[in-house]
Amino acid sequence: MIPLIPLFEQFPGLKESLPHENLCDLPSPINKLNKVGEKLGLDHLYMKQDGIIGHPFGGNKVRKLEFLLGEALRRGCKEVMTFGFAGSNHALATAVYANYEGLMSISMLLPQPNAHYVRRNLLMSWEYGAELHQYPNKLLLSLGTWYQLLRHRKITGKKTYVIPPGGSLPLGVVGFVNAAFELKQQIEQGQIPEPARIYVPMGTAGTYVGLLIGLKALNLKSQIFPVRVVDKHFTDEGKILKLFRDTVTLLCTSDPLFPRVQLSPDEIEINENFLGEGYARFTKEGMAAVALMEETEGIQLDGTYTGKTFAALFADASQQRIKKDDVVLFWNTLNAEDFSDEIEDIDYHELPKAFHRYFEQEVQPLDRN
Ligand SMILES: *Cc1c(COP(=O)(O)O)cnc(C)c1O
Repeated sequence: MIPLIPLFEQFPGLKESLPHENLCDLPSPINKLNKVGEKLGLDHLYMKQDGIIGHPFGGNKVRKLEFLLGEALRRGCKEVMTFGFAGSNHALATAVYANYEGLMSISMLLPQPNAHYVRRNLLMSWEYGAELHQYPNKLLLSLGTWYQLLRHRKITGKKTYVIPPGGSLPLGVVGFVNAAFELKQQIEQGQIPEPARIYVPMGTAGTYVGLLIGLKALNLKSQIFPVRVVDKHFTDEGKILKLFRDTVTLLCTSDPLFPRVQLSPDEIEINENFLGEGYARFTKEGMAAVALMEETEGIQLDGTYTGKTFAALFADASQQRIKKDDVVLFWNTLNAEDFSDEIEDIDYHELPKAFHRYFEQEVQPLDRN
């Protein structure tokens, strides 16, 4: 028997009304990072390892997809469409788990700075049968979206379930509300003391908002430190407040026992200092954090999300904003599964032409792997 997720255990009404497919291997483990903790002068640095919650592809998006793909199936859709930048982990996770559920997938992508991981993610999406499109800008992307939806309806007659970038729809965010409940259980089991600070990357903010709702609903005192990794026009304060409210409304209408928690604008404090020149543009600080984690703990971070986030944690520690005996949790959202075997025989020329340039042009100078 598959164990009940902690959110459903506590609020059975949610189990009755929310769609949910089991895709994740939960709970994700919590590890103490003694070696890098010592370097940073922190006695209690921990990591929540969401990288291994999904096979063959882990990371934070799988938590959201348990609900989103559940909804696609409940609506009788035969395919899903989603959005992201060319190397999007979310688009790849959607392709992989849609395929697992017997659904077709369409990825609507925008160009991004080149990196080795962009190549790997594109090949893996292709391997899992995703239909890949790239558009030069947001306007052409939205025109292309209407065109592809019509074309698909015409060819296949199938209904398409549309998932927004990052899966940050209230239903997807519920995956991270559950993650906070999971953390609470791990605290009760003595795997970690209640953290004073939790560091997370902030992209489309589903991860941050979900954890925030969960922590408030559980009366945990941990403070979340979201670190901006996407440009401001993608995720601003207004979007965060709306995502919070809409998700709480979904939870409270699905189970009236769920606490109607609130968020005021002045509680939203996003660390804006580590984005650098923009989304997926690697920074010196971010790559120094990647190198430090690799050398001390043998843990692989990335230049787009987790390196920038760990760099923020590093800076807070070295500037004594974190006390030596504070319990600090670094929420690692990055896939840690190695899928190189699955893609080694794919020739990139099989992909649509728009993507060849990622394989033919250099990666950005700070990218080492
Ligand atoms: C998508 C992603 C994030 C950002 O999560 P959001 O919920 O979009 O804020 C963080 N880390 C990694 C590795 C991701 O792929």
